[in-house]
Amino acid sequence: MNHLTKLTVYEAHKMLMSREVTSLELTRAHLERIEEVEPKVCALITRTGELALKQAAEADRRIEKGEAGPLTGIPGIIKDVICTRGVPTTCGSRMLENFIPPYNAAVMEKLNSAGMVMLGKANMDEFAMGSSNENSAFFPTRNPWDLERVPGGSSGGSAASVAAREGMFSLGSDTGGSIRLPASFCNLVGLKPTYGRVSRYGLVAFASSLDQIGPFARNVTDAALVFSVIAGFDERDSTSVKAEVPDFTRSLNGDIRGMKIGVPAEYFVEGMQPGVKQAVEDSIKKLEDLGAVVDRNVSLPSTPYSLAVYYILAPSEASANLARYDGVKYGYSYTDSQNMWEVMEKTRQIGFGAEVKRRIMLGTYALSAGYYDAYYLKAQKVRTLICREFTQAFSKYDALVAPTSPGVAFKIGEKTEDPLQMYLTDVCTLPINIAGIPAISIPGGFSGGMPVGLQIMAKPFDEETLFRLAYAHEQVTGWHNKTAEISR
Ligand code: GLN
Repeated sequence: MNHLTKLTVYEAHKMLMSREVTSLELTRAHLERIEEVEPKVCALITRTGELALKQAAEADRRIEKGEAGPLTGIPGIIKDVICTRGVPTTCGSRMLENFIPPYNAAVMEKLNSAGMVMLGKANMDEFAMGSSNENSAFFPTRNPWDLERVPGGSSGGSAASVAAREGMFSLGSDTGGSIRLPASFCNLVGLKPTYGRVSRYGLVAFASSLDQIGPFARNVTDAALVFSVIAGFDERDSTSVKAEVPDFTRSLNGDIRGMKIGVPAEYFVEGMQPGVKQAVEDSIKKLEDLGAVVDRNVSLPSTPYSLAVYYILAPSEASANLARYDGVKYGYSYTDSQNMWEVMEKTRQIGFGAEVKRRIMLGTYALSAGYYDAYYLKAQKVRTLICREFTQAFSKYDALVAPTSPGVAFKIGEKTEDPLQMYLTDVCTLPINIAGIPAISIPGGFSGGMPVGLQIMAKPFDEETLFRLAYAHEQVTGWHNKTAEISR
């Protein structure tokens, strides 16, 4: 049975179609695998085994009737920031520990109608604030490549579960790197789609102008298959864009001859680990060998301001979004007092963890009268500069290539004492959310035995280019085939 958890989504789909396997068998194999590795990896907050078996039986009936699509009967895992009707959605927080959404997020509606099987909800940094999963109110998730290390965050549970073969794919959310960073730390493919490409309806809001949902998978084809299902316009999300959703698997042909690629110098930051730099340079060389035209002298001069811009804008938006957790409308409520103000205060004091409180304070400060112009407004202006530089770059290049992070996965506890060090792990991913463009992180080699991520960026709504380059790279390097020892 265990071997079934080694299949890719695409392989499993073909076997389901040819009746070599049933969805019930696939699902049972994954549930067993979860039993086996979950005590070590700790990727899941909620397991939904019973629901999964029901969905698998239903998927098998659909397959029998010839009504199956590429995800029908495929077991996957959902980040616990995405609302699932009737299934707890905690957001990694005490505040929502007992919250059971009465509705499904738009992406869940799509996955359910595609016939996916949901195995569980993945652990995450509280309200998606973090880079290591150590901000989860419940427990830290461990990196399957080295259980002493973090899986990255905030979608660490989504990444670890797929790398440990607990699920065949997963969904995460990315506000400043939360899909790409864990993908790079766990040797996975992780896509942050164009802002507006995937509906945010039913995604618990962190920073609304930056948040996007995207897939994790063990190869590019699988990521394209999942993305094809969740992408598309939704009128319930006012920032959703009416753009055509092409068949993303079409760009998986390995032909990248003549494609123009820029390498922005600013992403090779000071303090970058030499092994990571080497792996990324080797990867770029591979793309060149395949016929891409690489310009290594690209400059996006505003890049270094991204960290400052992000840590003004994201907390500002978060402070507004999290105001709804007042002990009345949602989630946890402190009940040992008759005084309304005390109830509100204690609710937030007990319900939120330290990082969430820090962000609310930062954001409230930046938005307050007297500081708004100096911080929030200034950050918005610099945001425009960052966007412009990308627009200019994409008038010359089809894609930009850079590291996903300056380092490999770090040790649990290594950066928890120093928030600034933690924030710095995202220097290479933040500009992408600020500009709203799409980017993918793919396996880019190894440094000291730990996976390195290669990040590819493209212009808005050009995820096809990302998939094209990613697939070509994957075919020649085969890095994605390397698995953590626990997964062999
Ligand atoms: N690590 C970044 C933060 O803490 C990004 C998180 C995210 O993308 N959700 O805000």
